[in-house]
Amino acid sequence: MHFETCFLQGFQQSLFCAHQHRKSAPNLTHSAVRIAMTDNPPPVWSDIRLPASITPSLYELTVQPDLVNEPFSFQGTVVIHLHLAAATTDIVVHMVNINIDAAALRVASAQDWREPDDIVINHVQEYVVFRFFQPEKLQPGDYQLRIDYNGLLGQDLLGFYNSSYVDADGVTHNIATTKFEPTYARRAFPCLDEPAMKASYIVNSIANITLTPTVLSNMPEASRKQINGDIYQITFQPSLAMSTYLVAFIFCDFVGTSLPFHGGAKNVTVWTRPDAQAQGLFSLQVAQNCTDFYESYFEIDFPLPKMDLIGIPDFISGAMENWGLITFRETSFLIDDSQSSASDKQRTALTVCHELAHQWFGDLVTMRWWNDLWLNEGFASFLEYHGVDHAFPDWQMNDQFVTADMLNAFDADSLPVTHAISVNITNPAQINSLFDSISYDKGASILRMLSAFLDSLHPGQPSVFQSGLANYLNEHKYNNAETSDLWASLSAASQQPVATIMSAWTDSEGFPFVSAQLTTPSTIVLTQERFYQYPQAGNSTNTPQVWWIPLNYQTDTDANPVSFPMPLVQQSNPLAFNSSWIKFNVGQTAVCRVRYDSSLLLALKNTLAADLNALAPVDRAGLVADTLSFMRSQYVTPTDALRFTSVLQNETNYVVWQAAVRYLTVFEPLLRLQECYGQYRAFIQSLILTALNATGGVPSATVQEDPLNDSQTDILLRSLAIDTAGRFGHQPTLQAARALFFADLAGTVTISSNLRSAIYNAAMASDQTDDNDTVYHSLIVRYIAEASNPTERNRIIAAMARSSKPYILYTVLTWTLDPSLVRVQDVISVVVAVAAGQQGLNLAWDFFQQNFAFFNSKFGERMATLVTGVTKDFTMQANADEINQFFQLHPVASAALAVQQSTQRIASNEAWISKNADETCGYLFAA
Ligand SMILES: [Zn+2]
Repeated sequence: MHFETCFLQGFQQSLFCAHQHRKSAPNLTHSAVRIAMTDNPPPVWSDIRLPASITPSLYELTVQPDLVNEPFSFQGTVVIHLHLAAATTDIVVHMVNINIDAAALRVASAQDWREPDDIVINHVQEYVVFRFFQPEKLQPGDYQLRIDYNGLLGQDLLGFYNSSYVDADGVTHNIATTKFEPTYARRAFPCLDEPAMKASYIVNSIANITLTPTVLSNMPEASRKQINGDIYQITFQPSLAMSTYLVAFIFCDFVGTSLPFHGGAKNVTVWTRPDAQAQGLFSLQVAQNCTDFYESYFEIDFPLPKMDLIGIPDFISGAMENWGLITFRETSFLIDDSQSSASDKQRTALTVCHELAHQWFGDLVTMRWWNDLWLNEGFASFLEYHGVDHAFPDWQMNDQFVTADMLNAFDADSLPVTHAISVNITNPAQINSLFDSISYDKGASILRMLSAFLDSLHPGQPSVFQSGLANYLNEHKYNNAETSDLWASLSAASQQPVATIMSAWTDSEGFPFVSAQLTTPSTIVLTQERFYQYPQAGNSTNTPQVWWIPLNYQTDTDANPVSFPMPLVQQSNPLAFNSSWIKFNVGQTAVCRVRYDSSLLLALKNTLAADLNALAPVDRAGLVADTLSFMRSQYVTPTDALRFTSVLQNETNYVVWQAAVRYLTVFEPLLRLQECYGQYRAFIQSLILTALNATGGVPSATVQEDPLNDSQTDILLRSLAIDTAGRFGHQPTLQAARALFFADLAGTVTISSNLRSAIYNAAMASDQTDDNDTVYHSLIVRYIAEASNPTERNRIIAAMARSSKPYILYTVLTWTLDPSLVRVQDVISVVVAVAAGQQGLNLAWDFFQQNFAFFNSKFGERMATLVTGVTKDFTMQANADEINQFFQLHPVASAALAVQQSTQRIASNEAWISKNADETCGYLFAA
C-alpha cells in the first residue's frame, strides 16, 4: 500500500493530509481493490458474524461533512482501540460505500504505525479485511487501527446522509445527519458493526459554524477549538459503552428548548428548525414527563448527562433511539396547536415515549444479536403505552393498545408466511426485514400478556413483572442480553416457569385461536389451533401447535375474571357452564382470538343488545374484531358475524369503533363487484349513525365552532365516525362536510384541526363533479402553500387519494415522482393510499409498473410495503397471474415474500367471494 507520508504525523493533521491527497488516493472500494497474494490466499471472512476474537473498546472518531460543494461529501478519521484475543493475520471491520485514503495499525503502547500488507473488501458481508502477513501474525494484545476515509453523504436517508429544508424566504438549509440502525454505521465510519461490540466513543465534529452552528452528538460538548476561520472542531465527552447503531452526530442550524428532569439535575432539549421552535414544546413536555416516569418505573436513573430530541425534515422511519440524541420524523415530533389533531398528538406522544423507553431497553441493555430484536422493539412498543398513560391518564391507552398494536400483530401473524419472534439470521438483508409488526406489535403483545398473567398471581402486591424487569436491566446494564436472560429474571421474581410458558410464543410462527363449543347445555369444550386469516390459501403445515394460553373468562354470574387452569395445552378442555353467557379473554390480555359457536355468540349479542355495559369496552372491541376476522377467514358464517355486528348500532366507544372499522373495511374490496355493494355501504352507515350523532357529527358550517372540550377518545371517535360515514356514502355527512369545507375556504369558519382530515376526506368523496373539482383545486392550492407544514400536507394528499376521480388519483400518483411535492419518506404511503380506494387499485398498479425503475431504485429494501399495497386488494386469479408475470420479469429480492403473500391473498379473496358473497348479500338484503 502507498500512503501519504504525512499520514503518520498525528491524528488531526492526517485528516487534512488525506483531504489534500484525496484525488490521488487509491479508491479501494472500487476498481482498485487489491487482490491478495496468490501464495497466501486470504480467508476473506464470509461469515455474517465478525470474528469473536477482536473486540473494540474505544473509537476516536473525527468527521467533517462538506455541505457546500456538490455532491455533498464527508471525510473522516477513525482510530479504533481494539483487543485481539488470539493471534491473527486479519483484522476484520465492517465498511460499505466508503473510500479508504489511508490505514495503519500500531501496538497500543507503541509509537510507530504500520501499514497493512494488504486490504481486501468483501462486498457481500460488507467487510474490509486488513491483512498483516509479515514478519509474523499479530499477537494477542491491545492495538489501535487507524483509518482515514471519505464518502458521499447519502441521499437515501441512511448512514451519514443529507437532509434539507426550505425556510419562509425560500432559502434551502442543508443538514448532515445520521441513521445507523441496524447496519448503516458502517457507511459513516469503518467499525465493528454488531450490537454486542460495545465501545466508548469520542466524537470530534469538524463544522462550519456559520453554516451549521448546531452540532450535536450522543454526549454533551466537551470543548471546541477554531481550526480555520469558520471551521471549528467540536469535541464531545467520551460516551458510555454502547453499540455502533446508537451513535449519532448531526450538523444543522436548529434551535433548542430545554426543560429539567431528574429532579432538576439534567436537561431534556428538543431541537427544531428555527421557524418550528414552538412546535417542539409538546414533545418536550411529554419527554420530561416520560423520562421521570421511566426513571421510577425501572428504578434506574437515566445514565447520560443530557437528553436531546430532534426533528429531521427527511427521516426514513418514525424515529430512532440514538442514545442521548433521539432523531424523529417531523410528523411524529412537531405539534402545532392550530394545525395538529388529537391523533397527531397521540402518535407523537407514543413515538416520544417509545424512543425514551429504548434509552433503557435497547441502549442501556442491548440485544446480543439481531435475532432478539424483539427484546428491544417489543419492550419499547409495550412501555410506550405505559409512558403515555402516565402523561395522559384519560386517553384509554391500555385499551388502545389492543385495538392498535395487538390487532396489527394478529393481522401480520395470521398470513401463511410469517416468522417467529426469535429467528436465525443468515444475511445482512434479513436483519432489516425483522423491523416489522412481529418484532414490535407481537413482541409487545406477548409482554403485556405475560405481565398481566404474572401479576394476576400476586394480587394486591407490587408488580412482580416490573421488579423482574428492574433486576434484568441492573444485571445487564452497559452490556447485552438474550431472551433467556429476561425469562430468568422474570422467573426469579415471579417463581413461575416463564421460559416454558413463553417458548411457543417466541419460537413458533403464528398465534392460536380458541374455539368455544357448547357440547351439552352445561358443558363448553375449548380447543386451540393456529389462526390463519386466509386458511384456504394454503397453510403450509397442519401439524398441531400448542401454546400455553393464560385464558380467563367472565359470565353473568361471575363478573370477576376466572382463570382457566394453565396450561390450556390439551386439544380439548371441558368447562362447566351454568350461566346465560360467557366471555373469554377478559381484558384481551391473552394473545389469541376466541371463536364462539353460533349459540354462544348469539347469547353475547343478546346480552350486549340489552346492556352494552355488561362488558368493558376493550372486551367489546375484542369480540367485534374477532368475529369479523373469523368471517373473513371463514371460521364464522357471514350470517352469525353480521348479526353480531348489529350490537354496534348502540356503540359509542372509540376503541370498539376503532376495531370495528378496521375489519368492516376488509370486506369493501370483496363486495365491490357484488349486487349488494350498496346494501353493504348502507349497513355500515346504519351502524355508525349513533356514534356519529353522539359525537355531534360534522359541525355546522354557519356557526363558528366552540373549542372542543371533549375527551381525547371522544374527539378521536368524532373524527372516525365522520370519516367512516363519509367513506361509505352517508349523504348528510357528505353534504355537511362539503358545506363546512366551503365555509372554511370562504373564511367564515375554521375547521378544527381534529376534524380536518375527516372533513377533507368527506369533501373529496363527494360525487358531484363541480363541487369535487372545486374542493380538489382548493386543496392543491393549500398543498402548495403548506410546504413547511408536513402534517397539513399529509392530510391533504391523503384526502386526494380518497377521490373516486381517476384524474385526481393520477395527479396524486405523478406527484410521488417529484421530491419537491412528495418527500421520499412519504411516497410509499401515498401510492398505497391511492391503491386502497375503489377507483385507485388498477390505476396504482399500472402506475407502479410504468414507474417500476424509479420505485425500485428509491426503495430497494422497502419495496415489500409498496408491492403489498398496490397488489393485495385484487380479487381475480387473472390479476394474480399478471402480478406474478410482472415480478418474474422484474424480480425484487426484498419483495419476493410480499409478492407471494399478495397472490395468496388474491386467491383467498376470490375463494371468499365465491363461497360467501351470496350468503353475505342475502343477509344484507334482508337486514
Ligand atoms: Zn423502537
